[in-house]
Parts: sequence; structure tokens; C-alpha cells
Amino acid sequence: MQLSERIERITESSTLAVMVEAEKYKARGIDVVDFGPGEPDFPTPDHIKRAAIRALEQNFTKYTPAGGILPLRQAVCEWHHAQLGTSYQASECAVTVGGKHAIFNTVNVLVNSGDEVVIPVPCWVSFPDIVKYAGGKPVFVQTHEHDGFCLHSRDVEAALTPKTRMVIVNSPSNPTGAILPEEEFAKILDLCRRRGIWLLTDECYSHFLYAGRRPFSVASLPDAKNTVIVCGSLSKTFAMTGWRVGFVLAPEPIAKAIVKLQSQSTSNPTSIAQHAALEAVRGPMDSVASMLAEYERRRARVLAGLRAIPGLACTEPQGAFYAFPNISACPTRDAECRAASNGRLDSSVVARRLLESAHVAVVPGEGFGAAGYFRLSYATSIERIEEGLRRLTDFFSQD
Ligand code: PLP
Repeated sequence: MQLSERIERITESSTLAVMVEAEKYKARGIDVVDFGPGEPDFPTPDHIKRAAIRALEQNFTKYTPAGGILPLRQAVCEWHHAQLGTSYQASECAVTVGGKHAIFNTVNVLVNSGDEVVIPVPCWVSFPDIVKYAGGKPVFVQTHEHDGFCLHSRDVEAALTPKTRMVIVNSPSNPTGAILPEEEFAKILDLCRRRGIWLLTDECYSHFLYAGRRPFSVASLPDAKNTVIVCGSLSKTFAMTGWRVGFVLAPEPIAKAIVKLQSQSTSNPTSIAQHAALEAVRGPMDSVASMLAEYERRRARVLAGLRAIPGLACTEPQGAFYAFPNISACPTRDAECRAASNGRLDSSVVARRLLESAHVAVVPGEGFGAAGYFRLSYATSIERIEEGLRRLTDFFSQD
């Protein structure tokens, strides 16, 4: 079967692939501890669900403008202003079918064939493939476990060339939970501004920061708006992964180009979901605060449990809801993992064997550009975390 050259450039999302694999085990009645999904285990708050029911009852079930209804675009700008101190108008906002779509569209309206896009690694699995699909070339900047996977502006600067079109920053980061300090963010903004490079900031986890840190958007810095593109998502903040609502805040010509692309592809985000989103951004933020408090409790338990495993190292995630342990130096009772290891464990084999033999689902680090690690999502209950830690401890022990 001859598919397009474009589609052959990319691979399926490894996080979604883990989900499919884990589902097969669950369908056979197997008790899987699922640390795979990058989504809140909390239900969408009631007031948001009720807004969707009202929208249905009022027959708000038809096409809308491709970039979202005006009240929602206005409300997203107001919410972003109130939460993150920016000043966007509705004409600078496009509502998208989730945050991934926001990033996909942004990259596709700005990146030409052969353009370079700087991506810090470990990185979210979709950034490189989205860039490749657009014909761009991902240029990776390494971040390091020894300083908490913090991105340094000097490393970004060293990666810039005349072909660089865009730098992507995701803070807090999936998969490491690292937060880019505001001063470093400002330096990267300055670099991009001076060289005429776009800075795409993926704010998917903007509200999940620990130890009392406050959400921050680089778009709130003076003179940022002509350089920065904000890609946001309601998926994690409001526990709305299935509703598929995200947004872009950008200079008007970019917002318009995104709407044009949507007008010839997805058309509008689902009408009912738009009304739910309107309620989410206009309504109370207390459900977000209680989710964060629970994630913080789980983070402590996960970190303590993982660090008690011999040979395992895990930096403390500062945000999001993932732990990203280095398991390459762990001993294991699993013969297949031992046979496949070359002195250091292979994380893709470990992830496969963990699911097959211990019925624990994790995402191997390879998809994030970091072999030797796996990503564990603690968006699951403390009881499941305890059970999962028991199984991991057993797996990483010697007979
Ligand atoms: N950005 C990051 C870093 C993510 O982890 C995700 C989802 O996992 C997204 C963007 C996209 O989220 P969604 O498309 O569900 O809004």
C-alpha cells in the first residue's frame, strides 16, 4: 500500500499505543495498574457538564464559526488575562479541537519545508512528529537529569541557525515535570525576538505546579506578543480530555490562518463542547485547586516509593502529573529484561515486560527521546499507586 510521503514521515503516538495495549489486557479481565494515561482520573466538574446538557437542550447542535463562537474566544482571552496576566483580544484567539490540534495548526501555518524547530528533550511525544509532518526538521536540545531537566537558554542559543523558524517550550513539561524558571524563559524570549524566531509555548499543564508556585505565561512579559504563540488546552486543567477543546493565542494574522486551516479541515470544535468550555473558563477554579492538592499528595507517595527501589533515580517533578524515573541501572528478576540488557536495562523491553508479567502499564522513554527512562502518570488513585509500587518493587528486585 502506497501512502503519502507525508504520513510515512511520522509514527503513531507511543502514549496512545500504550493505552491500546493496556486495554487489551483489561478486556481479558486482567487487573492492570495503569500508569500510562496522561489524563486526569477526576470527572469533569458538574457545573461544566451541566452547561453541556443545557446546550443540548437548547439545540446548540449546529455549525459554529470555524475558530469557535465569539463569546468563547472572548472568555478564553479574559480567563488567560485573569490567570496569567496577558492581554489578548478575541481576534487573536482561535478555539481548536484540543491542545494537540492547537500545536498542529500553529506549526502547519508557520513552518515551511526545511525549517528547523528547536525542541528540548525529553519532550512530549507529538512535537517532533508534528514538525516532521509539516516538512520541518526537529532540532533537539538536551536537558539533563542532574539538574532536574531544566532547559538553559545558552543551549537553545547554541542550537539556533539561520534556518530556525520556531522554538517550542513546554513548561511544566510532559514527561519530566520540569518548570522553566521565569528568568530563563525571558532569556529565550529575548533570543527569539532578536532573531525573528517564533516561540511556541505549550501551556497544557499551566495550572499544575507544586509547592505553591503560581502559573506563569511567557506571553505576559513586556513586548512578548509579537514573538510568542500560546497553545493552551482545557483537557488537563478542567479534566476535559474527551471534550477536545484547546486554543491558540497569537498575533491576528496567525489566528486567522489557523481559522482558515480549520475551515478546510475540522471546521468548528464541537458546538456542545464549546458551551462546556465557556462555563469552564468563566466558572469557579476551585475544582482545579482540589485536583492539584490531590496530585501533590500522590506525587509525594510516588516519589518516595520509586526512590526506595534499588538503582532507580527519579528527579522531583515540579509540575504536571508524571514521574520520569531512570531505571537503566536497576536490577530485575525478569530474565527477558536481563537478557536484553547490555549492562543497562532497555526501557522499551522493561515497559513491555512490566505489562506482560506484572500488569503495570508505563510509557517507555524512547518516545520522549530518552531511552533508559519510563513515564509514570500519577493521575490515578493512591490505592492504585500503592499496588503499582508494590508490583514495581517486586519486578525490580533480584531473586
Ligand atoms: N501538550 C502536552 C505537553 C501534552 O501532554 C498534551 C496531552 O497529553 C497536549 C499538549 C494535548 O492535549 P489535548 O490535545 O488533549 O488538549
